[in-house]
Amino acid sequence: MRFLSTTQAEGVDGVSFSEAAMQGLAQDGGLFVPESLPALEPRDFEGCSSLSETATRLLAPFFEGDVLADALAEICREALDFPTPVVALGEGSAPSVLELFHGPTCAFKDVGARFLAACLSRLRRPDDKTATILVATSGDTGGAVAAAFYRRPGFRVVVLYPEGLVSPRQAHQLSCWGDNVFTYSVDGNFDDCQRLVKAAFADTALRDELALNSANSINLARLLPQMAYYAQASLDRWRADGVSPGFVVPTGNLGNAFACVTAREIGLPIGDVVLATNANRPVPDFLETGTWEPRASLATLASAMDVGNPSNMERLRWMFPNMETLRSRVSSVSVTDAEIRATIKAGPERWDQCWCPHTATAVHAWEEMDGAQKSLPWILVATAHAAKFETVVEPLIGRSVDVPAPLQDLLDRPAQARRLTPDLDDFREVLRGLPASA
Ligand SMILES: *Cc1c(COP(=O)(O)O)cnc(C)c1O
Repeated sequence: MRFLSTTQAEGVDGVSFSEAAMQGLAQDGGLFVPESLPALEPRDFEGCSSLSETATRLLAPFFEGDVLADALAEICREALDFPTPVVALGEGSAPSVLELFHGPTCAFKDVGARFLAACLSRLRRPDDKTATILVATSGDTGGAVAAAFYRRPGFRVVVLYPEGLVSPRQAHQLSCWGDNVFTYSVDGNFDDCQRLVKAAFADTALRDELALNSANSINLARLLPQMAYYAQASLDRWRADGVSPGFVVPTGNLGNAFACVTAREIGLPIGDVVLATNANRPVPDFLETGTWEPRASLATLASAMDVGNPSNMERLRWMFPNMETLRSRVSSVSVTDAEIRATIKAGPERWDQCWCPHTATAVHAWEEMDGAQKSLPWILVATAHAAKFETVVEPLIGRSVDVPAPLQDLLDRPAQARRLTPDLDDFREVLRGLPASA
């Protein structure tokens, strides 16, 4: 399988999965997409019972001919070694929740980050210079990538997060590492962080000098493994009662949702896909008006989704260049902070659940559906654990949220981030001044 850039003319030779994973962004600034999608059916997954087995089967066509093809099963076992359970919220037509927060940093970003780290460390050759992984984060990616690469020989991680715009526990989780992880809080918003990363990449001299790689959700090696939990959850449902569940996906940069849509295009038994956004509305507005208008991001309670210019929109539009087709494949609902608050507040009594603010957007989007739509089999995607956002959640539910063990381990470590202005020259200097990896 070859991968092309979204901006590439047809008929150009693409790159392999491994090359795409190492490059992050394509040389021409576009995003890598597969030259074609494999076609699989539920019966192709017979005998796949665990997440890592399902992932191996699903990803095999993308690894065909790749140097990592023989290592795929092992990569999946290493990276996807925590549960992603589907929990029913009640009897009958009550929805279920796909819990993606049981990894080391308690958000779904662990899946892609661990897969990327497992791939890149196998692609390294002994005489390669230390690779520098750049990651702009709106809160959860940075922690997941730091955890996945922490103390991996041959890698350094540079994390940029917007000062004051991530939760206190996220900030701690981003800056508690040390060793080969360097964390900066940027005076700006997520878009500024992302701009710095993109600009650093566009500087080819810098890119070569530091062997830069991106761990943002633009990297295919993060994006594609996220299809695995949609495959696993939908196949389980399909096997149990022959129905194709729909998914409501909390959406920011569109990586998670794109993985869900791609899994369905490949042939997994997935019904409707609803993209739940916070008050950042470029996606729902685009579906409504047909005009793509990225904008500055607004700060909301679901801060990991505060994205005004979602990069993976380029992939979604590549997949469905026709507006009517796109509208028939996804819908989108924007959820306000007031609605997020009300949903979190009602969670314990109504569902016996503590929702994180991101998950609450999906729960609210489901609650807003009309009766006929609601009675379809829905799986709401829980993208992070509520304990990461305790300053939002606890005052609303009037009690404390239990801290899961992996999060407590990180909170027990000391944390310190360096400050950075959103200026490329400063950033360049910082990068060139980093100590060589330990
Ligand atoms: C990153 C993140 C999202 C948004 O996911 P995208 O792939 O960027 O759309 C939603 N919820 C949480 C908790 C996140 O960390």
